[in-house]
Amino acid sequence: MDEIIYDTGGGEGDLQNHRIQELKSQLTDLQMKNDLLTKEINQLKRENSQLKRPPLFVASVIEVLADGEVYLRQQGNNQEYITHTLDEIYRELRPGQKVAVNNSLSIVRTIGTTFDARVRVMELEESPDVTFDKIGGLREEIEEVREAVEYPLTRPHIFTRLGVEPPKGILLFGPPGTGKTLIAKAVAHQAHASFIRMSGSELVHKFIGEGAQMVRELFALARQKAPSIVFIDEIDAIGSMRTHDGTSGSAEVQRTLMQLLAEMDGFDNRGDVRIMAATNRVDMLDPALLRPGRFDRIVEIPLPDAESRLEIFKIHAAPLKTDGVVLEDMVRLTENSTGAEIQAICREAGMIAVRNEAKAVTGDDFLRAIRKVKHLTASEDRMFL
Ligand code: ATP
Repeated sequence: MDEIIYDTGGGEGDLQNHRIQELKSQLTDLQMKNDLLTKEINQLKRENSQLKRPPLFVASVIEVLADGEVYLRQQGNNQEYITHTLDEIYRELRPGQKVAVNNSLSIVRTIGTTFDARVRVMELEESPDVTFDKIGGLREEIEEVREAVEYPLTRPHIFTRLGVEPPKGILLFGPPGTGKTLIAKAVAHQAHASFIRMSGSELVHKFIGEGAQMVRELFALARQKAPSIVFIDEIDAIGSMRTHDGTSGSAEVQRTLMQLLAEMDGFDNRGDVRIMAATNRVDMLDPALLRPGRFDRIVEIPLPDAESRLEIFKIHAAPLKTDGVVLEDMVRLTENSTGAEIQAICREAGMIAVRNEAKAVTGDDFLRAIRKVKHLTASEDRMFL
């Protein structure tokens, strides 16, 4: 039998070394775990202090006053107050700016930019791609608008030379869908001006408590983007006599209107911001809006007559591949129709042909489209065919 010989001296040393190595690696492990736990504790401490901190409120700046003072309106409850703020925040503030305020109503920081607030309600096109040849009829009306809006922007020297003051604002009125917005866009295109549209009814219904401020922002944006055309659609929503009945909602609408009048009064007739508005109900407008120096040129945009309807049909049927369609017949069948309805008829006729997988759009497709768009009754329908 072989005898096993242990090297007790050297062997013990190896064991100890081994043990030390083991303990060292355990220590490193524990140190790593300790680091992780310390990080976790710090994170939890941060979250804890965050939870203990009271939430901040959002307010918007109504006016930046002198000596570090700011006039604010809190969102939600519409409470208005004046607060004093630190110099570095004060320098950044503009009317319309959103800010975060703490419990003691001091501004903690600003939120976003003023431009963010504006784009929520305004449509801005740097130079719309609508040209006059895309508008059927309305020649005299277009000329009147060009004189009042486009020429002061493109030929200001003629006005100066002759000492003529162009109208301050121009109001288009007529039934919906007759091309009021279209004209405003085409004029902006022609004058290489930015087109800024704001809807009066959206302003009143979506931006309760912010109407006057939005009007201020609209004009600030118009100055920034000049030369520009401001187009206020459905102006009757803010400028109608009927809405001013003494309720709190009407007080808000009244404030919005006052702001609009103040902005218009502060404008130079010959400046490079032109103001247009549109309504379906000119008779309902507050006379304050129609005084000289405000909307002092009023142009009616009527329903298109037969000749204009033919032009509108030609414009909207042009991209369609048609077969034997006599547009003059369609003109006879669309008395009292608006340009928007004629556009819808052409689109619908095209869709019917697509559904039938036809080679071209036919007169019959147009007839069906007229019936659908004009919601004809059975008896009207018989007369019609
Ligand atoms: P609203 O009062 O509802 O705002 P509006 O008078 O401003 O209506 P637009 O938005 O200009 O009407 O017209 C809607 C669409 O109808 C236009 O985009 C255009 O396609 C078509 N349209 C209206 N009038 C004409 C026209 N005279 N020539 C060509 N297209 C027209």
